[in-house]
Amino acid sequence: MGVETSAGSVGFIGLGTMGREMVINLLKAGHAVRVYDVCAEAVEELAAHGAAVAASPADAARDADIAISMLPDTPQVEEVVYGPDGLMETPPRGRLVVDMSTISPVAVRRMSRDLGAKGVAFLDAPVSGGPIGATNAALSIMVGGAAEAFARAEPFFRAMGTTITHVGASGAGQTVKLCNQLICGINIQGICEAIALGRASGVDLKQLRQVLLGGSAASWMLEKLGPAMIDGDTGAGFRIDLMFKDLRLVQEHAQALSVPLPGTALVTSQYVEARAHGEGRNGNQALFRVYDRMSNQDGARDATRRP
Ligand code: NAD
Repeated sequence: MGVETSAGSVGFIGLGTMGREMVINLLKAGHAVRVYDVCAEAVEELAAHGAAVAASPADAARDADIAISMLPDTPQVEEVVYGPDGLMETPPRGRLVVDMSTISPVAVRRMSRDLGAKGVAFLDAPVSGGPIGATNAALSIMVGGAAEAFARAEPFFRAMGTTITHVGASGAGQTVKLCNQLICGINIQGICEAIALGRASGVDLKQLRQVLLGGSAASWMLEKLGPAMIDGDTGAGFRIDLMFKDLRLVQEHAQALSVPLPGTALVTSQYVEARAHGEGRNGNQALFRVYDRMSNQDGARDATRRP
């Protein structure tokens, strides 16, 4: 892969779907990584890959050049920063903290200010590319914060991603990520509608997707999630719960700035419906189930899925 980096040390907190793969790539690039997660199994698994085990966020970060977190939502990141044994009390030796989760830009700016008052730089560096991008060290990483901190973090980003962009001051990384999620959500909804219409019209849905991929309706979502939508496969992936969280963050941010986003509001309500029907842990493509229910195709899908 030709990663050009001198080995450094990382305290990594949050070893779920994304964090696990990111740690493995940091290890492969030659960095020493000390890991922490509330789930002991996740920690043990990475120990087998050569990571050192930490008993708390402070323990993971203390001796590191950089602390990186990859957690579900704003409250978990705030706990890791402000909580007992957190990074505010015990920052990394290199005085650099990077959160790569998708969280509130307002919370990011508050943490940046509070850590900054202690002489610790904070970057928001959310990612796009999903578990496949994380596994292949091919994430797109959008970074907000001071240029000097970005320069110090860049060698670590290079071990995890390919498109690494400093997009502005603190919070700008999250703003760009929320724009990304807004487009993804509305795009998935558009694909669901096309499939619903194509199905009702009796066209071959696999061919429909193939044709659309060759024209101006092509998208990452249609390419990667289209097959699962057509096959009625609700399996693992970026969870409906996480997408709902991201759309909630988009709406909070837009409302605070008085920006009307009617398209986002509509698709968010469909994510609410999906969660109410127990789809929260299903992959994001399971939004098509909302369209199945609306067009009374739910039973038809179930019938075709039966052996
Ligand atoms: P995940 O739920 O799989 O993993 C989160 C991990 O954090 C879990 O292992 C959990 O045990 C741990 N955790 C929770 N609270 C903790 C705490 N207080 N201290 C330490 N560990 C704690 O989530 P994920 O899919 O890896 O996503 C992480 C972040 O990345 C989210 O903000 C998500 O929106 C974003 N993201 C995910 C994807 C994706 O495709 N999964 C893509 C891009 C961005």
